Amino acid sequence: MKPAPFAYKKVRSLDEAVALLGEKDARLLAGGQSLIATLNMRLSSPSLLIDINGLDGLSNISEKGGAVEIGALARHAQAERSDVIAKHAPLIARAMPHIGHPAIRNRGTLGGSIAFADPAAELPACLLALDGEVDATGPKGKRTIKAQDFFRGLFETALAPQEVLTAIRVPAADKGARVGFAELARRHGDYAIVGLAASARADGKGLSNVRLAYFGVGNTPVRAKKAEAALASGSIDAAVAALDLDPNDDVMATARLKKHLAGVLLRRVAKQLLEAGS
Ligand SMILES: Cc1cc2nc3c(=O)[nH]c(=O)nc-3n(C[C@H](O)[C@H](O)[C@H](O)COP(=O)(O)OP(=O)(O)OC[C@H]3O[C@@H](n4cnc5c(N)ncnc54)[C@H](O)[C@@H]3O)c2cc1C
Repeated sequence: MKPAPFAYKKVRSLDEAVALLGEKDARLLAGGQSLIATLNMRLSSPSLLIDINGLDGLSNISEKGGAVEIGALARHAQAERSDVIAKHAPLIARAMPHIGHPAIRNRGTLGGSIAFADPAAELPACLLALDGEVDATGPKGKRTIKAQDFFRGLFETALAPQEVLTAIRVPAADKGARVGFAELARRHGDYAIVGLAASARADGKGLSNVRLAYFGVGNTPVRAKKAEAALASGSIDAAVAALDLDPNDDVMATARLKKHLAGVLLRRVAKQLLEAGS
C-alpha cells in the first residue's frame, strides 16, 4: 500500500516547526521508523509532514550538573555507541540493543520513540524507571514534563498538538545507583511481549528507592508499586507475589501469560539490581 498524498516541508528552525504544527493535520517527521509505517498502512494520513531532521542542536548527548541530557534527534545508534550513555545512563545503554534492528536504530530517534509512546517500547519505560523528564517547546515557549505525567494513554502523551519534544533528561548514575533491564520478545529486535526497566539505590546489602517500570502490559509504561515496596523490604518472592499488574490479552500473548512472564522478568531484574556494579 502507498501513503495518501501529503505535503512536505523541511524546517530550519524550531519556531518554524512550531508554527507549521498549527496547520491542520500537520505531523512532525523525525526518524520516520514508526510514522512512515503508519502512513504506508494508511493508519494515519497527515496533510503535511514537517521534517525536523535539519534542526541544529537537537542531537547532543551530554552530562551536566548530575543529569544526562539527550537531544530529541539523537539516533538510537548514536546513544548505543555513546560513552556518556554507557557511563552515566547505564539503564538506557542496556535497553538500546533491544530496540528493533541496526537499520532502524540508525534512523530512529530517542525523541521520536518517547513522543510516539508505544506501550511496548523500551525507552518510555526507561524514562519512567529513572524518574526522568521531557523538554517541549510550543507557541507559549518551553516547559518540562516529568515522565510520570507524560505518558497519558495508548500512544497518547502530555504533548500539546503544537509542541515539539526537544530533549529528555535522566539523573546521571552515581556509585549508589543500581539498574536492571530484561525483556521477552519472540525474536531479538521485535517489540517486547513484556519488558521491565528498573532503577534503585544500593542500601547496605539491600535496595531503596526501587522503581519498576513494565512495558507491554498496559496502555502506557506501568509502575508496579506494591512489588517495588516488597523488593525494597528485601524479598524477591514477596515482590513477585505482590506484582500489581493488570495486562490485557493482545496479539502477542494472553494476560495470564504476560503476568507470569512479568514475574520471571522481576526475578532476573531483581538479581541485576542487587549485584554491586550493575
Ligand atoms: C520493524 C521495526 C521494529 C521496531 N522495533 C522497535 C522496538 O523493538 N522497540 C522500540 O522502542 N521501537 C521499535 N521500533 C520503532 C523505532 O524505535 C522508532 O524509531 C521510534 O519509535 C520512533 O522514532 P522515529 O524517530 O523513527 O519517529 P517518527 O517515526 O519520525 O515519528 C513517530 C511519531 O512521533 C512524532 N515525533 C517524532 N519526533 C518528535 C518530536 N521531537 N516531538 C514531537 N513529536 C515527535 C511524529 O510526529 C510521529 O507521530 C521499530 C520500528 C520498526 C520499523
